[in-house]
Amino acid sequence: MKFYSTNNKQIQVSLREAVLRGIADDGGLFMPDEIPKLPESFFHHLEKYSFQEIGFEVAKLFIDDINEADLRAIVNNAISFPAPLVQLSKNISILELFHGPTLAFKDFGANFLANLLVHYLKNEKKETLILVATSGDTGSAVANGFYEKEGIKVALLYPSGKVSKTQEQQLTTLGKNIFAFEINGVFDDCQRLVKKTFHDPDLKNIFSMTSANSINIARLLPQTFYYFEAYKQVKDKSHPFIVSVPSGNFGNLTAGLIAQAMGLPVHKFIAAVNTNDVFLNYLQSGKFEPKASVATLSNAMDVGNPSNFARIISFFGNDVDLVREKIISSSFNDEQTLSAIKEVKENYHYTIDPHGAVGYLALKKYFQDTIQESVNGVIFETAHPAKFSEIVEKVLAEKTSIPERLSVCFGKQKVSVKTNKDFVSFKEALVQTIS
Ligand SMILES: *Cc1c(COP(=O)(O)O)cnc(C)c1O
Repeated sequence: MKFYSTNNKQIQVSLREAVLRGIADDGGLFMPDEIPKLPESFFHHLEKYSFQEIGFEVAKLFIDDINEADLRAIVNNAISFPAPLVQLSKNISILELFHGPTLAFKDFGANFLANLLVHYLKNEKKETLILVATSGDTGSAVANGFYEKEGIKVALLYPSGKVSKTQEQQLTTLGKNIFAFEINGVFDDCQRLVKKTFHDPDLKNIFSMTSANSINIARLLPQTFYYFEAYKQVKDKSHPFIVSVPSGNFGNLTAGLIAQAMGLPVHKFIAAVNTNDVFLNYLQSGKFEPKASVATLSNAMDVGNPSNFARIISFFGNDVDLVREKIISSSFNDEQTLSAIKEVKENYHYTIDPHGAVGYLALKKYFQDTIQESVNGVIFETAHPAKFSEIVEKVLAEKTSIPERLSVCFGKQKVSVKTNKDFVSFKEALVQTIS
């Protein structure tokens, strides 16, 4: 299997290269050259497969340069927590994607990427330095994936004072091979420093460096697994299967499109967005016009220029009508999000987080806009409500329960290296800290 650059289909590389490079030299994102089909027998026996076995059956169709035993180990290590489907009503279920170490779906992709990279790099002589600029969630998911992995050090760069208290605790309390750098600047400064570090000749001598950013293809592939896992748990499969995906950079939704092309019978994807609605505008007008992002309560979806848009249009050969056949979209503001959190609690006794709440609203709108029929409507609950306890508690006037894996890091001492945002200061701090 080869992977092409969305900027130029002629540029084709192996998965190993795509994973190590992260982004193509021409700035494009990597996509599988063809989407393999799962055999019909897979769907007939789906209920018999464990989540990990599903992951292996899917992964082996994309990954042909790793032997079976190693690939099984990679998948099993990465898919080490469940994704249960919780039924709210006849037509609505919730796929809980927050059972990983950092309580968000990004744990699946980050864990898989980490395990795959460790495999590809195991014969490297130099130590590997993973650099991640983070505005909060991505950094801790990636750090957890690489935690205690031999021969690997992780440098997390985050903007000082610009991440939530919870996020900061998650970023700065792991220790061991994880190093947090608190940059006196904004997220864009962190990204710029990461890029400069990659090209620095001194650092290149010491380390083999790679980035684990969100556009890495190894983060996308494992996100297809839980679409199959959701379908597996649907009881009456004769009804249309509809998935509402709270979306920001559209990685989750892109993975769904791949799962569908592999044979998963998804009737419709709903791209649920907050007021950052460039994708909805694209479906309506046919024009993609990136905007500056706007801050909302579902902040992981505050994206004005979704990075995976390039993958979606390349997947559909730039034909907006084809996109419209598969995906619908609707947008909701903060006020509606808050009411939805309340409504889900009152109607279904379920505590949903602000991102899932947007997914709920979009599914409900779909029900209102289409002929009522029996459907299997699935909302992706992308984060645990405890990650957004300030918001959820204000609406529900009750305490959210904090899972132990989160409360543990609150008890630990924050360790970070504070530096200025110029490259000279950062480089000095980096070298001193990790070598
Ligand atoms: C990252 C994130 C999203 C958005 O996912 P994309 O794949 O970027 O569309 C939604 N919800 C939560 C909680 C997230 O962390």
